[in-house]
Amino acid sequence: MKRRQLIQSTLAGAVAAALPGGAAAALKAISNVQGDLAAVTGSGAQISLEAAAVRELGESLRGMLLLPGNAGYDESRRVLNMAIDRHPALIIQPSGAGDISTAINFARERELLLAVKCGGHSWTGKSTCEGGMQIDLSSFRHTRVDPAARRAYVAGGSLLGELDYESMAQGLITTAGTVSHTGVAGLTLGGGFGRLARRFGLALDNVVSLDIVNADGQLRHASADENPELYWALRGGGGNFGVVTAFEFALHPMARDVVAGEVIIPIGQARQVLEFYADYAAAAPDDLYLDLVMSSPQGTTDGVALLHACYSGPPQQAEKVLGPLRKAGRPIADTLATTDYVAAQRSQDVTDARVTGEYVKSGFVSDIPAQLVTNLVDGFGRREDTGTTIVFQHAGGAINRVAPDATAFSHRDAMATMLGFASWPMAASGEDPARRLKEYWLDLEPFTTGWYSNEVADESNQTISRNYQINFDRLLAVKNEYDPTNLFRLNANISSTV
Ligand code: FAD
Repeated sequence: MKRRQLIQSTLAGAVAAALPGGAAAALKAISNVQGDLAAVTGSGAQISLEAAAVRELGESLRGMLLLPGNAGYDESRRVLNMAIDRHPALIIQPSGAGDISTAINFARERELLLAVKCGGHSWTGKSTCEGGMQIDLSSFRHTRVDPAARRAYVAGGSLLGELDYESMAQGLITTAGTVSHTGVAGLTLGGGFGRLARRFGLALDNVVSLDIVNADGQLRHASADENPELYWALRGGGGNFGVVTAFEFALHPMARDVVAGEVIIPIGQARQVLEFYADYAAAAPDDLYLDLVMSSPQGTTDGVALLHACYSGPPQQAEKVLGPLRKAGRPIADTLATTDYVAAQRSQDVTDARVTGEYVKSGFVSDIPAQLVTNLVDGFGRREDTGTTIVFQHAGGAINRVAPDATAFSHRDAMATMLGFASWPMAASGEDPARRLKEYWLDLEPFTTGWYSNEVADESNQTISRNYQINFDRLLAVKNEYDPTNLFRLNANISSTV
C-alpha cells in the first residue's frame, strides 16, 4: 500500500472508529484495496481474492471493510484470549442485515473460511481466523425494551451488559452470563448460564424469536411458529446455522436489589468447602446462585476456595439462605451485601485483564461425589505452578425443568458446570502452559458427562456428535438444510453431510 493511501485508510479507520455506525459507514469508500488478497477456504486451500471483487465488496457495504494495516483491523481480529493471534484476510463490520447477507454471499461463493465475532469471548478463538473472512459485529449493537410486552429486542453484536442495563431500567430482567462484556450471541446460542438461570432458565430458554442470515444469504425469522426447526436448533446449536442479527428475549419482573458477594476461605480448607458445596448447591432454592472457585493466582502462594453467591429471593429470607456459607470453613473475608443487580453483573469484569493467555476445560457434573472431591483437592495441592483455577458454575433449578429435547441444548440434568482454567502472562515462554491443567483434568473428567460447547478448548477427547446427545440427528438435518456446505464451521461444528 502506498504511503498516502495508507495514511488515508488509517485516518479513515481512526475517524470511523470514533463515529456511530451510520457515519462510519459513509467513510468506508476511502479504504483502498491494493492488489489481490491471499486467503484460505474453509477446507484450508490457498486462494486469491481479486482486488476488483474485494473493492466492489467494500463499495457495496454500508459498514466497513477492514484489511491488514487499516486502523481497527487489529482490534477486530483479536479476541479476549491473548494466546490467540490470527489474521483474517479481510474483516467486515456490518451496519445491518444487508451487509451481513452481502458478506455471507461473498464468502460462500469463494468457499472462504468464515468467522463470526460478537463479544470475542470464545476461549478457543473461533470468532477470528487465519486467512479467511471475519464478520465482526461490534458496530451492530442495540437493545430496545418493550416494558408492556416484557420483551427485549437485541441486535446480534450486543454485549450482555447492555441487555442487563436496559432491562433492569424497566424493572425487568432475563438470564445473562456473569461477565458483562461477554457477547449476547455467543453466550445465548450455546447455552447461557448465569446468576438468574436457576430462576428463569438458560439465556436460550428465554429466546422467543430470532432473525438470522443463513448460508444462502437469506434473512429469516425463526420462532415457534415460523421456521420452527431452525428456532429449535438455534437454541443450543451455536453458530452452526448463520449469523443471528436480532434476538427477542422474554423478560421477567425482578427487584433491583439482590444480595451478592463472596465468602473467601483459605485453600487449605478446600475439602471442607467442596463437601459443603456438594450438598448445599444441590439442594439450594432457585433464587440462590452459588459458584465455587478454587484459585491460586500466579505468583502467589495464598490460594483460596471461595463461594460466590447471588441471592435474588425475598430479602427477609436472605440470612437464612446465605448464613450457612459463612460456616463452610473459617473465612478470611466476606463481601456478601445487598447490591444493585446490574452492579453485581459487572463485579467480575475487572478480573479480566486481557493480558493473559488462557486454556479451558469444561464438563457437566450431576453431583460431586467424595472421590471427585479427593481428586480435586489432591490434584490442586500437587501443582507446583500457579495460575490454575477450578470453577463450579451453578446449574440446576429451572434449567433442569426443561426436557433435553425441547431445545438443542440437552444437558438438562447438570447440577453444575465444572471448569478448569490455566492462565499465564503472555510474556511467559517455554513448556506448554496448559500442560499441568491437562494432566489434572485426566483425574476429573471421568466424573463429567459431556461438556459446555461454549467453553471447550479441545474437542478431540469426546466427539461433538456425542456431546449433542439425543439431539444430534435433528441438528444435522437442520444443518444440512440451512448450511449445506458447512460455511459456518468455526463453532462446535456439525459437519454437513449433503
Ligand atoms: P465470540 O467469540 O464473539 O463468539 C463465539 C462464537 O459464537 C463464534 O465463534 C460464533 O460461532 C458464534 N457467534 C457469535 N456471534 C454470533 C451471531 N451473531 N450469530 C451466530 N453466531 C454467532 N458462559 C456462560 O454460559 N455463562 C457465563 O457466565 C460465562 N462467563 C464467561 C466469562 C468470560 C470472561 C468468558 C471469556 C466466557 C464466559 N462464558 C460464559 C462462555 C461464553 O458463553 C462463550 O465464550 C461465548 O462463546 C461467548 O460469546 P461471545 O459472543 O462473547 O463470543
